[in-house]
Amino acid sequence: MGDNERLLANEAPAFSRAARVKYYNIVIRSGKGAVVTDVDGNDYIDLLASASSTNTGHAHPHVVKAIQDQAARLIQYTAAYFATENEAKLAPRLAALAPISGPKALAWGNSGSDANDAIIKFSRAYTGRPNIVSFTGAYHGSTYGSQTLSAVSLNMSRKIGPMLPGVVKVPFPDPWKRLKGETDDAFVDRMFAAFKLPFETYLPAEETAAILIEPIQGDGGIVKAPQKFMEKIYKFAHDNGILFAVDEVNQGMGRTGKWWSIANFGLEPDLMSVGKSLASGMPLSAVIGRQEIMDSLGAPGHLFTTAGNPITTAAAMATIDVIEDEHL
Ligand code: PMP
Repeated sequence: MGDNERLLANEAPAFSRAARVKYYNIVIRSGKGAVVTDVDGNDYIDLLASASSTNTGHAHPHVVKAIQDQAARLIQYTAAYFATENEAKLAPRLAALAPISGPKALAWGNSGSDANDAIIKFSRAYTGRPNIVSFTGAYHGSTYGSQTLSAVSLNMSRKIGPMLPGVVKVPFPDPWKRLKGETDDAFVDRMFAAFKLPFETYLPAEETAAILIEPIQGDGGIVKAPQKFMEKIYKFAHDNGILFAVDEVNQGMGRTGKWWSIANFGLEPDLMSVGKSLASGMPLSAVIGRQEIMDSLGAPGHLFTTAGNPITTAAAMATIDVIEDEHL
């Protein structure tokens, strides 16, 4: 028996099967660049990039040094009480990178999931409307709010309902699901009709706060929504006072060769969620939005003790350095 099997057998009685999507029976010990090494010394090219959370590669020296130096200086002070040095520098730097024109602001979180919960909170608060629209095939997270927004696996709603009220799912325009002989335009028209059906039958647009989409679905299979579909729902949102929100947790931070996946569509979100590679996989997320939207809640409407922690924000500053300096 190798160390992989030994450790997995050791873990098994103590670990919930709800908490891992099983790919391979390996136990990872180290990583460098694109390669990870298991406890038996086997090397693998990490095409998963740790669920898109290591866009600068494993153990990038600049990120490692930033974490090590910060750990010796201050491990934790809660940004929920006082600003800390890296966090205060990172907030305007990250906000400036967001593809939103005009004043914008952000709030920290610990996971992509809570950043998507924040989209529910801030869009409801700002609009005074209860309903949120998301898409089938979406993975937005594992808290109750973000899991309610998701629709990629029955195990995300099975046995745990009722889910959060006020969430309506419409079909994601997956171009692989075009009908035989269907043109691109006919496909977009069909998908946009499906998108509008709830609004024409039971979901008043004026009671809808936000439309949340992964412009390129990640866990749904790396599927890019058609440009024309994105333009149509963007216009629909604006015409009806609905906020247009994008989940950049998986496809942001340079993953598509641009800072954000929405930049591939030339559209400006009102709100966006960021996480995963933001701090090279250290637990840091952010919801970023137009300032007037982000001003619609007061403390402690969206804060977490460890969010914006000194080490995670040091890692994020270093991660942004690497993406900029190495033109990733
Ligand atoms: N949004 C997207 C698009 C994701 O892919 C994920 C994670 N797979 C999340 C949100 C949730 O992030 P986290 O697991 O950090 O809560």
